[in-house]
Amino acid sequence: MSLIKTFSKKLIAWHGVDGRQGLPWQNNRDPYAVWVSEIMLQQTQVATVLERYPRFMKRFPTVKRLAAADIDEVLAEWAGLGYYSRARNLHACAKQVMEQFSGKFPSDPVLLEQLKGIGRSTAGAIAAFAFHERAPILDANVKRILARLFCIDGALQDKKVNDQLWSLASSLLPTKSEDMPIYTQALMDFGATWCTSRKPVCLTGERKCPFAKECQANLSDQVLLFPQKTIKAKSPEFDCDMLLLRHGNQVLLQKRPSKAIWGGLWCLPESAWVAKAKVSKVGATPKLEDLLALTLSNETAGPLLKLGKQVERGENIKHIFTHRRLWIQIWNVQTSKAYAFASGDLKWVPLAKLGQYGLPQPIKLLLQGLSLARGDDLKN
Ligand code: SF4
Repeated sequence: MSLIKTFSKKLIAWHGVDGRQGLPWQNNRDPYAVWVSEIMLQQTQVATVLERYPRFMKRFPTVKRLAAADIDEVLAEWAGLGYYSRARNLHACAKQVMEQFSGKFPSDPVLLEQLKGIGRSTAGAIAAFAFHERAPILDANVKRILARLFCIDGALQDKKVNDQLWSLASSLLPTKSEDMPIYTQALMDFGATWCTSRKPVCLTGERKCPFAKECQANLSDQVLLFPQKTIKAKSPEFDCDMLLLRHGNQVLLQKRPSKAIWGGLWCLPESAWVAKAKVSKVGATPKLEDLLALTLSNETAGPLLKLGKQVERGENIKHIFTHRRLWIQIWNVQTSKAYAFASGDLKWVPLAKLGQYGLPQPIKLLLQGLSLARGDDLKN
């Protein structure tokens, strides 16, 4: 019998023995809980989600509570998970569900896909888990499995290849809708634990893959050649300066624009990011007026120039994003007063209250270090 007909049954049987069991978001038909777990699991390891998901659900137990929260509260809870557009989209989507669907997630994947931050695969997962809809998923793991099973030619970014994979994913679905949650979970687990990118079980020989005799990549000894890859350009590298202005136990934070990297989070005033110099060298310590001109507007720089003391070179932090690297040079400056700014985007924040603000991970670690050195307790 062809693999198309037998795939779902075999995969469900595999899950019964070797799939992941007992994850807190499994066997849950609440679309809100399913949706939060699906968004959190994108680009985040399961081990991290296991720790952070219950905490998020405790703080925002319903879509109504999440929609009513302040975005700063959501970003603070998300801090450390990265890809902050996910948190902003969660918040915006919760509002959409409240306003457009009276607080109830729709079951139709086409409608789900129209919500903020929900792509076709996530819509399929929510529809399958919460509503038992026969909707396919196609995340990176599933693409890899299908590309190998059927030796799909062409890079995954190619629209034709993508369309072909979606059509395959649909044709492999179980016929009974009540099997959809377990099938969808099995597909995710099989890609994450058995048909992995670098060490699929058919190559390591650790376990016997249930598809070994039908998988075309395995039969033709080309497993690691699928999915076919496009050649990646080297990640660009950038330099920037950040100003760590302190008055006593307070630091000056600036809210980032919502569309930028780390959008909507609170950060230190920073200069524009410039392409990293080919040969890095440690230059002289800049004057305060030059640093202020690089990092803040004229109106804010003026009062700080009068209040700031000596500039001291601080840490040089390397932060790696998925598609770029950033070197941050910290400059420490004490001020004689915590000048009260008219702009709500600039705030003096006591170190002990940093836990109430969503901060980019490298800045959070830097300020936590300061806080611990002072013996402050960072309240979350
Ligand atoms: S035989 Fe190997 S490549 Fe094929 S599905 Fe199984 S684990 Fe994946």
